[in-house]
Amino acid sequence: MTDAPVNGSVPTVGPEVPVVARFCPSPTGNPHVGMARTALFSWAFARHHGGRFVFRIEDTDASRDSQESYGLLIDVMRWLGLDWDEGVEVGGPNGPYRQSERADVYADVVQRLLDAGLAYKAYDTAEELEERREKARAEGRPSGYDGLHRDLTPEQQAAYEAEGRRPVIRFKMPAKDWTFDDLVRGPITFGAENVQDFVIVRANGQPLYTLTNPTDDALMGITHVLRGEDILSSTPRQVALYEAFAQIGVGQGFIPRFGHLPYVMGQGNKKLSKRDPESNLLGYREQGFLPEGLLNYLALLGWSIPPVDGVDRDVFTLEEMVQAFDISRVNPNPARFDLKKCEAINGDHVRLLEVADVQERIVPHLQAAGLVQDPITADEHAMLSAATPLVHERISLLSEAVTMLRFLFVGEDAFTIDEKDRAKQLDGKGLDVVRAALTALESIGESTEWSCPTIEGALRVALVDELGLKPRLAFGPVRVASTGSRISPPLFESLELLGRTRTLQRLRAVL
Ligand code: GLU
Repeated sequence: MTDAPVNGSVPTVGPEVPVVARFCPSPTGNPHVGMARTALFSWAFARHHGGRFVFRIEDTDASRDSQESYGLLIDVMRWLGLDWDEGVEVGGPNGPYRQSERADVYADVVQRLLDAGLAYKAYDTAEELEERREKARAEGRPSGYDGLHRDLTPEQQAAYEAEGRRPVIRFKMPAKDWTFDDLVRGPITFGAENVQDFVIVRANGQPLYTLTNPTDDALMGITHVLRGEDILSSTPRQVALYEAFAQIGVGQGFIPRFGHLPYVMGQGNKKLSKRDPESNLLGYREQGFLPEGLLNYLALLGWSIPPVDGVDRDVFTLEEMVQAFDISRVNPNPARFDLKKCEAINGDHVRLLEVADVQERIVPHLQAAGLVQDPITADEHAMLSAATPLVHERISLLSEAVTMLRFLFVGEDAFTIDEKDRAKQLDGKGLDVVRAALTALESIGESTEWSCPTIEGALRVALVDELGLKPRLAFGPVRVASTGSRISPPLFESLELLGRTRTLQRLRAVL
């Protein structure tokens, strides 16, 4: 950490204060990729510095927040393995950690701000505000709040109240420029004219994010705020609030350091929106991304691991990330989300796992597809143990294992052949190949072992030697007839696992 400049009267947190980072999403809709990237970077930052990681929920908007979404956030954080030292579900010294349960905390802070003259009640109606904004725009002046109700007398306030107006509460922005040293972007200055008095409590009494977020950061002793670039413009307001907090004795007397993570661009170089299908985190879990693979890819959205011996690398473990996580390596330029690369990196992580581990992780996917029982039976388990090595090197996602191994687990009455593959491989010529294969396989006597070498031997003699076919042409039709698809594990091993009876039965069926 570098020494940060002092911002006004309140110092920015220094390196002597142990790191406390946080993740504080709002529980609306499905957890998305941008959120997970923020969580990962904050978590890795905290862990790298041996600090604490706080998980707080910013649910102050009852019209948009949902309990379901809250549950999904917890679920996804646990799935990803981003553990927290303090926060929802686990508790801690600064709870509660759901903002919906902290109304009294905010009411107290607001009262103190009002008492100290750092905030005030403003009675402007929406129409009045709009009219003045229009005028300011027309005259080329900044169009933020003009401060008209800053210094109302108690009599003026009473008169507005008597009209039935309900006030919002605005924070009084000191008239000065705001500079902070962003951990990702370096020094950033917002001119005084661009940050006007802002609303901290709605007319209905609800405190807003602009107040609750810095209040909690201050009370929870957050030293480092890593978050998306989309909230950069709220930072000068938050810095100003910190200075006010110091005056009213809220928090620990320092301003945290801020780091704004780059935008993530999706298809067509447009900002990835949380509504884009590739944003949906739950979808990744369903498709069989490994948390290890997904986290590795998310780490690359703005960060890169230092090369080792001059060699760049994209694939690393979470431990390696934590060890190497230097926030100054985060690139402020927009990052591009590339699903193909995400899948490829996941595939690399599948390869890094032990076969037994891959097998265990495939089970829930087979169960979801209705191909094995829950709990898995001993026979199914034995079959899967034999089959997993065949797919381990070939899949990027666990769901691909389901596609590839379906032929082994599906009941004969439910076995189907992909229609496109049938059309391509099982035409007249293809059926001739299957006929020859059937004869050859039937000739593997009952007393001979049905095994990879005997199957391969029989098929090579019948199809390659006797029919004179190239192996690619010879085995395609047999593969489609027996596994139902052109994409399967290696043929001879597949037929061995499928067994003599089912193999012969399927070949006969297509004929
Ligand atoms: N709840 C805010 C959001 O999800 C967090 C902003 C912040 O990190 O300060 O956008």
